[in-house]
Amino acid sequence: NKPVYAFEEADSKKRMLLGGKGAGLSEMTRLKLPVPPGFTITTEVCNKYYENGRKLPKDVMPAVMKNILKMEKKTGKKWNSTKNPLLVSVRSGAAISMPGMMDTILNLGLNEKTVEGFAVQTKNPRFSWDSYRRFIQLFGKVVFGVNDEKFDHVLDSAKSKQGVTDDSKLNVESLKKIVKEYKKICENHTKRKFPDTPNEQLGLAIEAVFRSWMGERAVVYREKNGITKDIANGTAVNVVTMVFGNMGDDSATGVVFTRNGHNGKREIEGEYLTNAQGEDVVAGVRTGKNVELLKKEMPKSHKELSNACEKLEKHFREPQDIEFTIEQGKFYLLQTRTAKMSAGALVKTSVDMVKEKLIDKNRSLTRIPAQQLEALLHRTMDESKVKDHKQLAKGIAASPGAASGIAIFDVKKAIELGEAGKKVILIRKETKPEDVPAFFSAEGILTSLGGKSSHAAIVSRGMGKPCIVGCAELKINYENNTCTANGITVKENEMVSIDGSVGTVFIGEVPTVEPKVTKDFQTILSWAQNTKQLGIRANADTPDAAKLARQYGAQGIGLCRTERMFNESDRIGLFVEMIMAESQEERNKVLKKLQELQKSDFIGILKAMEGYKVTIRLLDPPLHEFLPNPEELKDRMNKENDKSKKTQRVLDRARELAEINPMMGHRGVRVAITYPEIYKMQITAVFEAAAELTKKKVNAKPQIMIPQVGSLAELNYIKSIYDDVKKEIEQKYKKKFKINFGTMLEVVRACLTSDELADTAEFFSFGTNDLTQAVFSFSREDAEGKFLPEYMEKELLETSPFQSIDVNGVGHLMKIGIRQGRDIKKDLEIGICGEHGGDPNSIKFCHSANVSYVSASPHRIPIAIVAAAQAAI
Ligand code: PEP
Ligand code: MG
Repeated sequence: NKPVYAFEEADSKKRMLLGGKGAGLSEMTRLKLPVPPGFTITTEVCNKYYENGRKLPKDVMPAVMKNILKMEKKTGKKWNSTKNPLLVSVRSGAAISMPGMMDTILNLGLNEKTVEGFAVQTKNPRFSWDSYRRFIQLFGKVVFGVNDEKFDHVLDSAKSKQGVTDDSKLNVESLKKIVKEYKKICENHTKRKFPDTPNEQLGLAIEAVFRSWMGERAVVYREKNGITKDIANGTAVNVVTMVFGNMGDDSATGVVFTRNGHNGKREIEGEYLTNAQGEDVVAGVRTGKNVELLKKEMPKSHKELSNACEKLEKHFREPQDIEFTIEQGKFYLLQTRTAKMSAGALVKTSVDMVKEKLIDKNRSLTRIPAQQLEALLHRTMDESKVKDHKQLAKGIAASPGAASGIAIFDVKKAIELGEAGKKVILIRKETKPEDVPAFFSAEGILTSLGGKSSHAAIVSRGMGKPCIVGCAELKINYENNTCTANGITVKENEMVSIDGSVGTVFIGEVPTVEPKVTKDFQTILSWAQNTKQLGIRANADTPDAAKLARQYGAQGIGLCRTERMFNESDRIGLFVEMIMAESQEERNKVLKKLQELQKSDFIGILKAMEGYKVTIRLLDPPLHEFLPNPEELKDRMNKENDKSKKTQRVLDRARELAEINPMMGHRGVRVAITYPEIYKMQITAVFEAAAELTKKKVNAKPQIMIPQVGSLAELNYIKSIYDDVKKEIEQKYKKKFKINFGTMLEVVRACLTSDELADTAEFFSFGTNDLTQAVFSFSREDAEGKFLPEYMEKELLETSPFQSIDVNGVGHLMKIGIRQGRDIKKDLEIGICGEHGGDPNSIKFCHSANVSYVSASPHRIPIAIVAAAQAAI
């Protein structure tokens, strides 16, 4: 590659080399749009500059000067001329836009002589001396690092000397004096003469822009926004002929979108300022005028602008974000890039552009970042009101949507107040299955511990309730019922607002905006449905969740966590009774009652998903999760002076069942090995539900799935229970039932021996939450709230493996599980039902790994459908 390309000769597809701005300028030049002549110094030069110990490579300046000659020819102006000087701007521009993070220098080429030439050229000495003054200030600041205040001080005293308050009232005499003083400031700072030749100025300015790539602002911005070297590697420098939007009332400058960025309507949207420089619009120093007004004020320029918008959209096949300047009636384009739009605008423009035949359906689907669709399905905070509220803390965005309510730290209170119609935000260090009733009555949930696949996160997502977890800076005090962060203490009953899409907690009630599933959104979903190859199922544990998921386009349930059903208030008591049972007989009695309840639950869900498969997973959590924490219970007993035998028994049982490492403890299939009657009850409930629905001619398709299986022996142990129940029910109803029996693959050994499991299992489903936990040995409950942020900060991990499948580790293991399983059963159905099922990158991986379907919580179904379509394109 050459170090420097004139706009007309660059290959604008090379964004990495030319940066976004350079690529846009050269593309517009090729389209014969009115771009001021100029050239781009490549990002490669930037990298060489650093390799060279912060020195420009030798071939750069000669190439730059050659291009300055070309600019002279095109503009008819002369570099360093006392009559008709060529002035340039020197602008940064990386492959990814980093607004305001790097430096720009304007009016370069002015010195004691050319400023006179510029005065002749513009017939405006005041304007040219003011430009010169501005140049020295910017150059001093950017190139030499002079503190701006020093210049301001001189400017202020000049104004008071002349007796004016406005910069624009300074006369030539004052400006000349200011220029002298400004130069002195620079010279005192650098101990060298202020560079007067345009050549020297240009060399120094180019280096300064390269330096700003590694400036603190830019480095932090890249870190915060995940801009790694493969996305943008160094900045390019664009040297552009100066055009002036501040040459009087026939001059202007503005920024527009070719379509409305908020609602997607086909209209030019944006602002401009008369007699101003581009920086004034971007910096928001003066309030811009609606671009509609330009039609009246400068009709010819408006026409040129709208023609340019149309041409650029046609060319880029994307709405554009454009900067323009009008210099004494002459229209110029200074930048174009793909417009960043709201999710709603992306959807509308996608549908519109297909109708306009600008793009095809595939392109219309791929241009929408699937993740952004989430915003269309949940209440969001009213952007304009957020700034009126103080931010209390920030945690992990665990379940999207915005909600407000009074802060309540006690589970029981949350239930009571919620049921009494109060809006409640439940704030806890962490939550347990026994807290679930409070989830129903709360508007949102906030925990200081836990990660994306922690209990609170999964339950909230399943219910579509906003939730923030792992909010480590929030110190919760259960004694006083308060929480503290950011120097603010929130007491019980005080109003707070949470944004589960971002992870932010605010003081007070932030107004929210209703979501809308528009017709355009439905159109996009139907196109995606027709394009995708992966099946999409839902993680749903209630008929309502199943209905919602179906509305959104889910075709089946990939995971129904049956333990969730035990959490409903009418059965948690029974379930505890079952755990407390002292004899098999006693336990069976309670199980009978639970069986009836489960059967009716299954009927509800199977009906809601009629015609589609519903994967019912048998009990997974360890039993002690349904009992109170022994220490908390002991405290409560002491406080309330509770000496009853009954409570003491609960305490004893809770202590007996407690485990040091419950995630690897007595859970899933292991519980059923100890208490086979529990699974027997659940399996019977599934068969009974199927029998009843068959009678009613409902096309129910349940299948039974076993969690935590690590060996064929375990699976077969349960299979024989299943076989017994099946036989019994078939005899009872004199009918055959086809209910598939399958296993989760969430234990490492299960993946490694999937060929053995495939002998018995009729389907597999990867539990990628537990599998990730096992593969990394990272606790899914703690890692994200504790040390994973540091891994990300130190670039040891790009994203949390609990959010996006770790392709090289977990993905590798999945591939082994899939290959071995399908070696035994060619058409084996293999899904995934961990939280990754709703993550676009994980969906892409699943598509490539030939997974049969992904299963995600109802609110993520639309995202999953679009992501699956994108993976297939
Ligand atoms: C999993 O482990 O990925 C899974 C789906 O099961 P759970 O999250 O209920 O443990
Ligand atoms: Mg699991």
